Amino acid sequence: HKYVYDFTEGNKDLKDLLGGKGANLAEMTNLGLPVPPGFTITTEACQAYLATGREPDGLAGQIEAHLESLERAMGKRLGDPRDPLLVSVRSGAKFSMPGMMETVLNVGLNDQSVVGLSAQAGGNDRFAWDSYRRLIQMFGKTVCEVPGEEFEHALDDVKRAKGTHNDLDLDADDLRGLVDAYKKIFLKHTGREFPQQPREQLDLAIRAVFESWNAERAVLYRRQERIPADLGTAVNVVTMVFGNLGPDSGTGVAFTRDPASGAQGIYGDYLANAQGEDVVAGIRNTVPLQQLEQLDKTSYDQLLSFMARLEEHYRDLCDIEFTIERGKLWMLQTRVGKRTAAAAFVIAGQLVDEGLIDLDEALHRVNGAQLAQLMFPRFQLDHEFQPVAKGIGASPGAASGKVVFTSARAVELAAEGESVILVRRETNPDDLTGMIAAKGILTSRGGKTSHAAVVARGMGKTCVSGADEIDVNVPAKRFTVAGQTVSEGDVVSIDGTTGKVYLGEVPVMPSEVVQYFEGSLDPEHIDNALVRAVHRIMTHADGKRRLAVRTNADTGADAARARRFGAEGIGLCRTEHMFLGDRRELVERLILARAEGEREAALAALLPLQRADFEEIFREMDGLPVTVRLIDPPLHEFLPPLEQLAVNVAVAQERGEDVAKEEALLAAVRRMHEENPMLGLRGVRLGLVIPGLFAMQVRAIAEAAVTCARAGGTAKPEIMVPLVGAVQELETVRAEAEKIIAEVVGDSGVEVLIGTMIEVPRAALTAGQIAEAAEFFSFGTNDLTQMAWGFSRDDVEGAFFWRYLELGIFGISPFESIDRDGVGRLVRIAAEEGRAARPGLKLGICGEHGGDPDSVHFFHEVGLDYVSCSPFRVPVARLEAGRAVV
Ligand code: ADP
Ligand code: MG
Ligand code: MG
Repeated sequence: HKYVYDFTEGNKDLKDLLGGKGANLAEMTNLGLPVPPGFTITTEACQAYLATGREPDGLAGQIEAHLESLERAMGKRLGDPRDPLLVSVRSGAKFSMPGMMETVLNVGLNDQSVVGLSAQAGGNDRFAWDSYRRLIQMFGKTVCEVPGEEFEHALDDVKRAKGTHNDLDLDADDLRGLVDAYKKIFLKHTGREFPQQPREQLDLAIRAVFESWNAERAVLYRRQERIPADLGTAVNVVTMVFGNLGPDSGTGVAFTRDPASGAQGIYGDYLANAQGEDVVAGIRNTVPLQQLEQLDKTSYDQLLSFMARLEEHYRDLCDIEFTIERGKLWMLQTRVGKRTAAAAFVIAGQLVDEGLIDLDEALHRVNGAQLAQLMFPRFQLDHEFQPVAKGIGASPGAASGKVVFTSARAVELAAEGESVILVRRETNPDDLTGMIAAKGILTSRGGKTSHAAVVARGMGKTCVSGADEIDVNVPAKRFTVAGQTVSEGDVVSIDGTTGKVYLGEVPVMPSEVVQYFEGSLDPEHIDNALVRAVHRIMTHADGKRRLAVRTNADTGADAARARRFGAEGIGLCRTEHMFLGDRRELVERLILARAEGEREAALAALLPLQRADFEEIFREMDGLPVTVRLIDPPLHEFLPPLEQLAVNVAVAQERGEDVAKEEALLAAVRRMHEENPMLGLRGVRLGLVIPGLFAMQVRAIAEAAVTCARAGGTAKPEIMVPLVGAVQELETVRAEAEKIIAEVVGDSGVEVLIGTMIEVPRAALTAGQIAEAAEFFSFGTNDLTQMAWGFSRDDVEGAFFWRYLELGIFGISPFESIDRDGVGRLVRIAAEEGRAARPGLKLGICGEHGGDPDSVHFFHEVGLDYVSCSPFRVPVARLEAGRAVV
């Protein structure tokens, strides 16, 4: 079995096997770019190691063979005392997990080869000892679990003794002393000397990279990003090149376009005389990449040409890691870069303009989650709010919250329901839990490519990084800025687009994209790259999609807004709220009615109120279908709570008041009490038990439609009966409704459809029968999920879903994204059998899933006619319905 691939053997399409980093190193190698030679150990080797706890047979031999050919090619041997070949051992999974796993640099250095390295570098002792101390530090930390702070403290001690804050002020002797200190730390924690055998270093480092797949923070990150847990990581063994050889060397990262805004240009950070992770970790402040032009024009020009080449090759934004060793440029990594939601749209639009991709591809490259992010509100700034600091807008959004300084505190306060902003000098992978809990992240160091920035962008969380006016004091739980002190618990606001930081809570306003959807920004006439790109891609999605998108709306205002957002009708108009507020009184009378006359009076009083509600909605949705659901929840929801009522009655009795009415109410509440109301007297059952209730609603709907028609409009009501489990239920309701409709509609030309929700599993399983009595089905996937799994949405999410997610019983809550195998199968059966019984049966969905991207794709596949979702989700559903086609 082949476990090891030379860089010349791979290519970018082998990410499953070689990981993203390995596949792209191979791709660059084959493009002829200067990549230090090396080889990749496959994810399969990692999977085998993780499954059995030992390296698979044959792996050691293959590594040996590839190492030998690498040594031949380089003319050096690993760890040779006179002229050592050094390598890095780098993790690299299929999906990028920035900083989550391990990398060890300078493998092959020991007490002898450090001398040879110095000699080969022209007697550069400082460089050689700096490299050696880095090896012991990284190897100790990642391979042998020596606490990283121990090394950091030792480094700080040396700097303090020297009276400096800057690593660069340390000379060869300082670093040699540091190596001794590091070795002692290593011995203390591991009970053994730092390994001097180069090959042993290599094998242990490879094993550590395998194991880092299951490091706690990697597991957490995967869960958050929904990356499967069984992929494993590849391991890349790469010839070292050195950015720490002096001022004519350095290391940097670059993006081919701005990953925050999508703007064209050169974006990146450069750090002279530095190695590897110094840039990403934000340890020293970097300079903007443009300054490299002054420092080393040849390398700079070459880098720009490589970047252009990579963009053209990948037809997308690329990010790059590079190192310059004494004026020679080396490419160490590239990948299609992560980007903000705004940049995703803008770049897709630009690439279409540049002819690199077509509109289908552009549509494919953005997604509903990104669009949803662009619809977040933004800060509404007036003179009152002046920024106190400005960092880098690392991940957009507007977040206000209480300041916290540790991950633990962030988690604690968030659990109490507080919004928190995690403030750190710089974040590291151990801060992940706090970053997840926080509304926003603020750091005083690090650029767009720092850990905080990359991880926050991935999570879609607001982040300002590198706000260096802020002086963070974590132990004292405060920071100072512009002469003011901000302590834990004080509120700040951060703008992840502009990078500005404000004290106090800044109010928010709708985003530009929302203004565009609202119709208040005209994309043809404003100079806003984002709005234009969104407009263009949405237009394309609308042209492509087969699914219609409706909205769930119960009021005229919601209907109007949803229509502006592109809704093509209402898929669910709930009538419950029409029974609340002042109308409660009437409902009470209805429920308590003893005599026929009393009930009719109550219904007669409700009728005009309902009719007015429907008229308003039909007006707003003129010409488009409106599905009205007859009343669904249990009636006791409209009555006062039992205990409170009992107390009131007792008190009134005590005072000798007349309580006949209250007592009757109390008796009714007692009578109607249900142990399990969601499985009780609700939906169609209620309609069959309370005479006249559904009839009143049907009449109100039909009359409102006729009123609209007479006023010159077109109302298209669709009456939907909830909670049907048997066709007989629907037939009974239908017979009565048809009579009323015929009587009301007369010759007005109004057409009223009658259909049902499919939300009880039995309905899905007998859909063929039910379709005989239904002109449409609308899948109520909330109830259907609830009843298919047998758990109550209101109770279980907080109670045990975390455990189910942890165990992988489901990867995401089935209330959030449709459970394709179970609930989805019910939908599929009902759709097929319903259509078989009644060709042309209209099919829609009106649960929360209607606005969930993955679910929209599923409903497209099943062949529904439309999805319906909340007004704010309508654009997301339109986009995803388009994406489902391309
Ligand atoms: P990550 O996936 O966390 O970015 P990498 O494997 O890319 O980790 O390595 C961490 C850092 O070390 C990067 O800055 C990278 O450029 C640098 N590095 C890795 N391999 C080499 C090498 N062979 N020579 C010089 N620098 C290297
Ligand atoms: Mg990297
Ligand atoms: Mg329901």
